[in-house]
Amino acid sequence: MKIYADNAATTRMSRTAIEAMIPYMENVYGNPSSLYSIGQEAKEALDQAREQVAAVINADPKEILFTSGGSEADNQALRSAAAIGARKGKKHIISSAFEHHAILHTLNRLEKEGFEVTLLPVHENGLIVPAELEAAIREDTCLVTIMTANNEIGTIQPIGEIGEICKRHGVIFHTDAVQAVGHLPIDVKEMNIDMLSASAHKFHGPKGVGFLFARKGIALTNLIEGGAQEKGKRAGTENVPGIMSMAAALKEASDHLGENAAHQTALRDRLIRGLLEIPHSALNGDAQRRLPGNANFCFEGIEGESLLLLLDDKGISASSGSACTSGSLDPSHVLLAIGRVHDVAHGSLRLSLGEDITEEEVDYIIQSVKEVVEYLRSFSPVWRDLMAGKTPFIL
Ligand SMILES: *Cc1c(COP(=O)(O)O)cnc(C)c1O
Repeated sequence: MKIYADNAATTRMSRTAIEAMIPYMENVYGNPSSLYSIGQEAKEALDQAREQVAAVINADPKEILFTSGGSEADNQALRSAAAIGARKGKKHIISSAFEHHAILHTLNRLEKEGFEVTLLPVHENGLIVPAELEAAIREDTCLVTIMTANNEIGTIQPIGEIGEICKRHGVIFHTDAVQAVGHLPIDVKEMNIDMLSASAHKFHGPKGVGFLFARKGIALTNLIEGGAQEKGKRAGTENVPGIMSMAAALKEASDHLGENAAHQTALRDRLIRGLLEIPHSALNGDAQRRLPGNANFCFEGIEGESLLLLLDDKGISASSGSACTSGSLDPSHVLLAIGRVHDVAHGSLRLSLGEDITEEEVDYIIQSVKEVVEYLRSFSPVWRDLMAGKTPFIL
């Protein structure tokens, strides 16, 4: 059996998304900035895509800026809010300890440039407490950036409450919604979101394209200077096939949001029940307030990398930590942020299920993980010490 269970890293492009690209590579290949008809046709297509994308999050098309993906959108959002803040002498930013590196590394840069950053704790359940956010807001706070759903443990933050607090205090609220868009309902007006980042390859669109929503009135800072594309805020000839494909993928995902979520949630819970039968195992992040397809575990006495390789031999693609940090031996900053100790964080497994996951596949995953964990423990010196009572069990 072949099971792709790493949809948080990236997704397979849907047939709809692939087909939506083709006309813009073969026939309507004009430059949207050109005045002749084949260029204007491309421009009209872009306008349509912008409307479609905006509609899904209840934004105005003028508030959507196409980017090369989630990382670029995150960078531009943070740089823009920081510049707006700096002009008013406000140089304090609030975020959380388990954001994506596109946020955390940009915040590191801003700190070097004289900004002060407060990282809120995410607690054991992988959630921030809105009252703690409110208490952290100061006179000089210019930005709150909190992700909608975490890419490793899938926990969903109380975005509406956070938005309401930020609005009340007159602070710009950005959310990295890369894991959420196309999977959870999002309404930027109702949730008082000022800026939001999204990426096509996380909802069955192509890699290398995404968008930034920025509420009217928020002055954006360019990351890329050049031509007047994207109202002069993001130079470079638009990725027309990618954008058209993203819009089609997003429409398809949002048209089936409820049914996909119900299907995935039921099978995710079956997976969680099955894997928690393994002794000395734990689920990472709140059991309910998590993405429909995300399950993330720690197994004591084993090492995540070996687990992944053996699962790969059984045809299962999964991950330990995120794609960006696996390959390094550091334990995930997300698992450390929710209080897992180093040794336990090393034995983690993220399974992110697709919309087409079946019960049979979930049962195969459960069986395979059980076998592999038992096998790895059978010759693990760490496990031997635990069993001998030389070191205490943590889980
Ligand atoms: C994937 C991801 C990103 C980065 O998006 P890219 O399009 O790959 O640059 C940012 N934030 C989160 C939460 C993600 O999951």
